[in-house]
Amino acid sequence: MADLVTFFIFFVVIIFSALLFGGWVIVSLFKGVGKVAGLILGPVNWRIPGPTGCTECGKMNPPWAKFCRRCGRPQPDPLSAR
Ligand SMILES: [Zn+2]
Repeated sequence: MADLVTFFIFFVVIIFSALLFGGWVIVSLFKGVGKVAGLILGPVNWRIPGPTGCTECGKMNPPWAKFCRRCGRPQPDPLSAR
């Protein structure tokens, strides 16, 4: 009988630890997913073409501009220059 109680307590402790560990793993997993998503989405968001400065004179041109609006210098295509 005493053995059964000991086994039961041991079992409860194991289950409790497993639940705690499982919760911790799930929380860590979600944190990791968030971190990975930030790593992936961060550079992607940064790469979305916005107004780009001219490589020659620094004039801000729209991303679709093929040539600088001030000096007429050909601008690198932000979509193809990855
Ligand atoms: Zn320019």
